[in-house]
Amino acid sequence: MHQAITDLSGNTLFELRLRQAILAAQHDVKQVGLLLIDIDATDNFPIQDSALAKEFSEKIWIRLRAVLRDSDTIVRMDDGELAVLLPSVAGTEDVIFVARKVLSKLEEPLLLEGLKFDVRPRIGIALFPEHSSNADNLVHRADIALAAAKRTRNKYVLYAHEQNNAPRAVLHMSELRRAIVADQLFLLYQPKIDLKNGLIAGLEVLTRWQHPELGLIPPDEFIPVAERTGLIIPLTLWVLHQSLLQCRAWNDMGIDIGIAVNLSMWNLEAQELPDQIAGLTKSIGMPADKLELEITESAIMGDPQRTMRTLTLIRDLGVRFTIDDFGTGYSSLAHLRKLPVTGMKIDKSFVQNMESDRDNAVIVRSIIDLGHNLGLKVTAEGVETQEAKDMLVGFECDEAQGYYYSYPIPAHEIAQLFRKPPLGPTDCSLAAASFSTITNGRNETTRDPQAALQRP
Ligand code: C2E
Ligand code: CA
Ligand code: CA
Repeated sequence: MHQAITDLSGNTLFELRLRQAILAAQHDVKQVGLLLIDIDATDNFPIQDSALAKEFSEKIWIRLRAVLRDSDTIVRMDDGELAVLLPSVAGTEDVIFVARKVLSKLEEPLLLEGLKFDVRPRIGIALFPEHSSNADNLVHRADIALAAAKRTRNKYVLYAHEQNNAPRAVLHMSELRRAIVADQLFLLYQPKIDLKNGLIAGLEVLTRWQHPELGLIPPDEFIPVAERTGLIIPLTLWVLHQSLLQCRAWNDMGIDIGIAVNLSMWNLEAQELPDQIAGLTKSIGMPADKLELEITESAIMGDPQRTMRTLTLIRDLGVRFTIDDFGTGYSSLAHLRKLPVTGMKIDKSFVQNMESDRDNAVIVRSIIDLGHNLGLKVTAEGVETQEAKDMLVGFECDEAQGYYYSYPIPAHEIAQLFRKPPLGPTDCSLAAASFSTITNGRNETTRDPQAALQRP
């Protein structure tokens, strides 16, 4: 089949198959799913080595075939992307399931001539007739979704009509500066669940930018701009101020909960930070131990001595530190031991496909053991399924955070969560059930990571 396809023009054959599938689906209740897959060239891949490149793409092809049905068509498009046509799917959930399966298969490192290469696939997804009623448009929509996946650094994105606007203009510093003062930024909160009792143990604060013309902009797009331009300093102070005020309001309502705010490397290099945090907690009247700060390994590596001083000063106020995205950086374990941190969060890339990827499950389990041996509380982020949650309970992970429990949600919805009858102390399944109901009810049509961003 591979031979036959490489002989034909990929796009022509694909068009033919797509039209056939659409015709068939028109007489059926089923939908047609289209996955457009882009494989990032990895840093160390010798692209100029054509023999190796050929072997690479053949191996990718074999992997795809292994997870797809015989009735699914795979085509290499003229621009190098891979298109997968699923001629009969039940709906969104079904295509996303296949996309996840494809991702976890493709993401296994590839061995070629004794060398190991990382594979970083991204997928754009569109469905007939939900997203388009004709073949050309469907490919275009999948392409828009793929572009969104690259832009937001999500592994897959399902097409949403909102994505179909003109390419986003470059974000400007002056706009971001205005956003901070003009109330265009707002905060969402995502619960972290204590896996021992199913209760909400804390809330991560995640920032969004509602741009007047460009719509909702995710932090992965504006935080880097803020970091490059130094605006990260006022932005972080704004986030700290708002979230501490919110925390205070919850506490006044009888909701005893702490918040976790993300810091970037630049924040830790600013010598005023300890005083600013002390000032904020004092003026707002929140005990500093209600505040946790999430920092990445790379944030600490910038200027280890200086950041160490800052960290220690803030820690002495009673604030706790957690290492974020653990497993993706390169910090030395010896260094890690010396840091005044009390917790670590396992990066979601290890957690998300843990059920199907044994290597990732082994990594997650090892990080949990490592964390516990260092006396740290371990949180897993990116928990999307019951299976992942169950595995984490088995590994004795302390906390879990992810779409399985709840998307990041606005403050008033957090208050509603706490108004529900309290969950039994060891009843994790009950807690999970009530959270997943919340999540599903909110978002029946899609579990697309973008969905979390599209809420008002
Ligand atoms: P992060 O600190 O790793 O935050 C977790 C991200 O994972 C959030 O993305 C969250 O929405 C997403 N997430 C949560 N559960 C799941 C899940 O089950 N599956 C998947 N696929 N994703 C999940 P978000 O909100 O887009 O934030 C992206 C990053 O932007 C954050 O990554 C953080 O590094 C940064 N960020 C967000 N707000 C701020 C901020 O106020 N200051 C700074 N410095 N960085 C921020
Ligand atoms: Ca974080
Ligand atoms: Ca993270």
